[in-house]
This record gives sequence, C-alpha cells and structure tokens, in this order.
Amino acid sequence: MADFLQNDIKFLTGVGERRAALLNKELGIFTLYDLLYHFPFRYMDRTRVYRIADINEQFTTHVQIRARIKGFSHQGERAKKRFIVTVSDGSGVTELLWFKGIKWIEKRLEIGREYLIFGKPTFFKGEFNMVHPEIELTEKLAQRPNFGIQGVYSTTEKLNSSGLTSKEIYNLVCNLWQHASAHIHETLPDYIRNANGLMPLKEALYNIHFPQSPQLLAQAQYRLKFEELFGIQLSILSRRSKRTTMADGFVFKRVGENFNDFYNNRLPFQLTGAQKRVIKEIRSDTVTGHQMNRLLQGDVGSGKTLVALMTMLLAVDNGYQSCLMAPTELLARQHYNSITSMLVGTPCEGKVDVLTGSTKTKERRGILERLAAGETKILIGTHALLEDRVQFSNLGFVVIDEQHRFGVEQRARMWTKNSQPPHILVMTATPIPRTLAMTLYGDLEVSVIDELPPNRKPITTRHMYDSQRLRLFSFMKSEIAKGRQVYVVYPLIKESEKMDYKDLYDGFESICRDFPLPEYRIGVVHGKMSSEDKNVAMDEFKRGVTNILVATSVIEVGVDVPNASVMVIESAERFGLSQLHQLRGRVGRGAAQSYCILMSGEKLSHEARARLDAMVETNDGFQLSELDLKLRGAGDIFGTRQSGMAFDLKIASLGKDGQIIELARRTAEKILDQDPTLSTPNNTLLAELRNRYVNHDNTIEYEMIS
Ligand code: ADP
Ligand code: MG
Repeated sequence: MADFLQNDIKFLTGVGERRAALLNKELGIFTLYDLLYHFPFRYMDRTRVYRIADINEQFTTHVQIRARIKGFSHQGERAKKRFIVTVSDGSGVTELLWFKGIKWIEKRLEIGREYLIFGKPTFFKGEFNMVHPEIELTEKLAQRPNFGIQGVYSTTEKLNSSGLTSKEIYNLVCNLWQHASAHIHETLPDYIRNANGLMPLKEALYNIHFPQSPQLLAQAQYRLKFEELFGIQLSILSRRSKRTTMADGFVFKRVGENFNDFYNNRLPFQLTGAQKRVIKEIRSDTVTGHQMNRLLQGDVGSGKTLVALMTMLLAVDNGYQSCLMAPTELLARQHYNSITSMLVGTPCEGKVDVLTGSTKTKERRGILERLAAGETKILIGTHALLEDRVQFSNLGFVVIDEQHRFGVEQRARMWTKNSQPPHILVMTATPIPRTLAMTLYGDLEVSVIDELPPNRKPITTRHMYDSQRLRLFSFMKSEIAKGRQVYVVYPLIKESEKMDYKDLYDGFESICRDFPLPEYRIGVVHGKMSSEDKNVAMDEFKRGVTNILVATSVIEVGVDVPNASVMVIESAERFGLSQLHQLRGRVGRGAAQSYCILMSGEKLSHEARARLDAMVETNDGFQLSELDLKLRGAGDIFGTRQSGMAFDLKIASLGKDGQIIELARRTAEKILDQDPTLSTPNNTLLAELRNRYVNHDNTIEYEMIS
C-alpha cells in the first residue's frame, strides 16, 4: 500500500490532534489507511419512503418519511425542555422531538415546507413519534450523490459524546476519499481477480463506503471479504509449509517400557478404535523429524485425556519430559489425580507433579528443582506453566487441554521452553465446524475422536420451567434414592456477578430446605472459594459423600464423576449452546441412564428457545456447534482473543462466509503449491497481502523456525 495512506490520521481535514487521539484509542485508527478500512457495520436503506399511515409497531428500525411541517411548539423548562415539530404527509400526522440543540434545529426548519425525515419511530398507545431524526429539505436531495443506501459506522459512547458520530465519521471518510482515492493500489493480481470475478480494489472501497446500488455493494463486500480471507489463508498455509519442510522436530523412535507397560498391564479398558487411530497419527507425526502441531477434537467424554497420557508416556520412553496445561486449577488437579492413580506401580510413579497459581512457594521450589533436574517426567498445571521460571531439562511434548481457552500466543510461548520446539497437541471438546477450523487452526493437523467409549447410554435431555420446580425436586429425590448424584449449576456471568451469586445462594438455600439432613448431603463449589475448599468439595462429591453438588459453571470443563447422573442447569437460557453441551457432558459417564434438565423462565427470546430445543433434540456436539455458529456468529463463540485468532476480521464473518473461506483456501493452496514463498514477479502483490496477516504472535513462530 502506498505510503500516502500511512500518514497520521490527525492530518486529515476535520480531525486534528484531539480527535486523532480519540480515534486511536477508541477505534484503533491511526492512519488514513485505517480509516479507509473502517467499514460501515450496517447500511440503512433510504431508497424507500413510507406513508405515515403505514408505519406500525412492526417497524423496529429507522424509517424514512416525506412530510410537511404543520407547526412548532415548546414544552418544559430548562433541562426538561423539548421542541416538538408536527408534520403531515397527507396520510397521517406525527411528531418529531428534540431535547438538545433546539435553537439550532429550530432556525433551520420552516413551517409549510416539505422535508425528508429519517428516524426511528417510538410507539406509544399505537401512535408514534421520532426523537432527533435526520431532517433535510426534499429539494436539497438532488445535490446529494447517493442518498439511497447509507453506511452506519461503528462508534463508541466516548466518540459520540465528542461529536464523532457515525454521520461524522462518514463525513471524514468523504474528506478522505478526495485525497486518498488516487493512492489506492490494487492488492490482487489480475489473474486472481479475473478468475474469481472480483471488482478492482478502488471500486470496492468506493462502494463499501458509498454504495451506488445494492448490487455494487454486494460485489464490493464479496471482493473485500475474499481479499481478507485469502490473505489469512496465504499466511496460515505459508507458515504451515515452512514448518513442515524444516527439520526441527524431536524424534520419538522408541516405543519403550513406559508405553508398553501401561498399554499391556495398566489400561483399565480397551481403547476405542478412534483412540487407537489418533495415537497412531501422533506416533507417525513424531518420528518424521518435523515438529508436530496437532489439534485433537473429540466430544466431551470421548477419552482425550487417555490419548494425551499415552503419548506423554511415549515421550518419556524417548528421554523427554512432557507437560499438560489445563485451563482451570480444578481441572489441572483432576488430571493430576487421575493420571497419578493410573501410573501407580509403573516406572513413572512419583515422577508426576502439578503446578498451579496457588502452589505454595516452598512446594513450588521443590517442583521447579525436580523439573530442571529432569526427575519430573510429566508436569501438569495451569497457565502457571508458561512462566519463565518454569524451566524443563528436556521438554519434548506439550499437551494443551481445551485449546479454545488459550490463544496462539500461549501456544507459541511453549515453543520456547526448549532449544527446539516441542511437539504440541492441543485438545478441544468444542466441535469446530470445518470452515472455522480452517481459519482458527488452519496451521494445525487435525485428529478427531468420533467414537465414544462403549456402553455409554445417550443422555436424556428435558426442558422444564421454573414453575415445575416441585416436579424437578421429586425427580432428583428418586434418582438419589437409586444411589445417583446430582449437579445443580448456576450461570456466572462477569457483568452480573453479584446477582448471580445471589441466585446461587438462594438456590442453595432452597435445595437445603427441600433436601434436609441427615437424609441428604449437599456440597457447594464456586469461583470465590479458596482452592483448598474447592478441592474438598469436589473430593467429597467424587467420593459420594455428598448427593448434590451446587456449583457455578466452574465445573463446566473436565470434571469426571461417573456416578453423577443428573445435571440440572438453572437459568439455562443464559448459557450459550456450546457451554450447555459441555455441562451436559459431565453426566453420562457411568453405566446408569443419565439426565440433563434445563430450567428456564417461561418468557424466552426466540434464540434462547432455539438453543434449548436443540439441546433437547440432539446429543451431537457437531450439530450443536453448527447451529451455534448460525445463531451467534463466530465472533461471539470464539472471541478473538479467546479463539487464538491472531487478527481481527474487518469484514468477513467466519460463521456466514464459509463458501468464501473454502474458495480462498483452495486458491491459496493452488498458488502456494507452485510458488511456496510467493517470490515470482506476478506474485509480488500476494507476498504483500500475506505479510499483512503475519502478526506479532506468528513472528515468534517464524523466528523459532528460521
Ligand atoms: P474427555 O477429556 O475427552 O472429555 P475423558 O478423557 O475425561 O474425556 O474420559 C471420559 C471418561 O471415559 C473417563 O472416565 C475415562 O476414564 C473414560 N474412558 C476413556 N477411554 C475409555 C475407553 N476406551 N473405554 C472406556 N472408558 C474410557
Ligand atoms: Mg477432558
């Protein structure tokens, strides 16, 4: 991109120092280029003019009317002042209201003249009015170049209150266009544009800001989405091919006593076919001499932990240490407990440690010493493993559980824990639709466990209303009478933490009333407890001391209590689909028939009802995640930071643009096959496009390799 566009935004007419600072801070706009690529997030259709008589409560967005001013009036005093303009279009009469800028607006309006009025109708007893509409003399319209489809730019409260409204940003973009349009250079070679029917960049940018017709807008969006997704694919695929062609991976040649002893003598059950296949895939990856980066996808309860353990034993057989990083302390401890108990009597007994943020200083010192000396073979823990002071003697294999909680950056940080990067296995129970995986994890090989261990009965899911609580309680009692245990989970959402804790405590009390001692014992676990108390509560539940565990969503991931067969989810409408599915996966682990009960109020939004219905209908995590993607869009499910996505998408949507992702992927593959480094002259532009998406995180990986 030409240098001109890299000029500081403050030099643009209408910006200046103060506004520039705001644009930097609020929208990340630093240069002219940034503003040019700040696209409207939606468009308002001003091609239609409605009759006042036809506007009813179905109209939930802005509408446009053409009406004559009948009269003015003022009401209220001082801060409560308002200015009311009555207008009529022959079909009906309505009022326009101003609370601010009254003097200014009053001066500009004339009784008897016709205006084009654009605003959001607010209804009251069947009548509507419009507050602070946009208003313009009809006869002035001819002077406006494109009043048909108007872009709405995202702003923030701070920007709005400093006058940088959507409209003002639009004005800035108009100014920008005058100077900048001559400096826009094509980013895609002709051969790609022609093959895919893409409009030139300049035309696309023009139409994205100033759509000349709905068709041209659609073409502009298509072109810019393609460019973005294609650039990302070029970057991801280049990175992957670079990695796979360099010889920099540890070689796990031996299958030795640790692996064999465990497999032959310790394994409490037969591996499923899928588990065997994945272990084979990992084995063949780790003998190539290239570093492995593999994603292991498997629904909750499919037995990923076991695969992780066996591959860690493989590393031990070859003289390397392994580590397993989990997203929560609870989960790390649980992994530690189950892994140490499976390793009793094997050569690895006593060579496993656990390290978390709450490990006491003295204990930590011992752990770190044993680790550095190579005595520890397997280290389990949380984010605490990423800290610099955690030094291995020879780390060869890293497992990251529930990858969607960690980012690319953390993955990359693990690379630096040895002189050569260790093999990496990331595990996730969140089934990721294919096109999404291509973008989020496009640089990883993918393994799938698509088979549950035998003898699992499908979980029965029911949706009940809060009014049916008595029925719920008697159902819980009958299950407890059969010797089963019950989870009752409450949502905990950061923004409403106080209320959520209140709900939890209220719920806990009401359960205590209905399930009294000595017949019933009830435990609680939530995020505000000390980790010791949490461990005690979990342990009591695991040992069957408590019948009911009341919890916040801390138990969402990984907790494994086979005797628990009922999962009650309170305010289920507040959870996302993938979270509901994860929670449900906590039951159905033993031989008993298991149940998931979704509790909600009677009043549900359309989306919430769709989520709950889907849960009742299917146990298939893949189907649910596809639906989730449709309902929410990728941004919400995999918030950029959480997802490990290293870049923000400016225009494309991972949820909605699957077809373009596929096309971009295929196109990128074809080109890189012939020109892996994009160094031939007709690919110069593509090298630039690729580099736009080589971000900071990825650079760490590049440096590691070369
Ligand atoms: P995930 O992490 O994939 O959700 P886990 O690894 O926690 O699943 O396994 C769930 C449960 O299934 C555990 O109790 C585990 O011991 C058990 N399990 C794993 N593999 C098998 C198998 N092949 N046969 C029977 N049970 C298994
Ligand atoms: Mg797990």
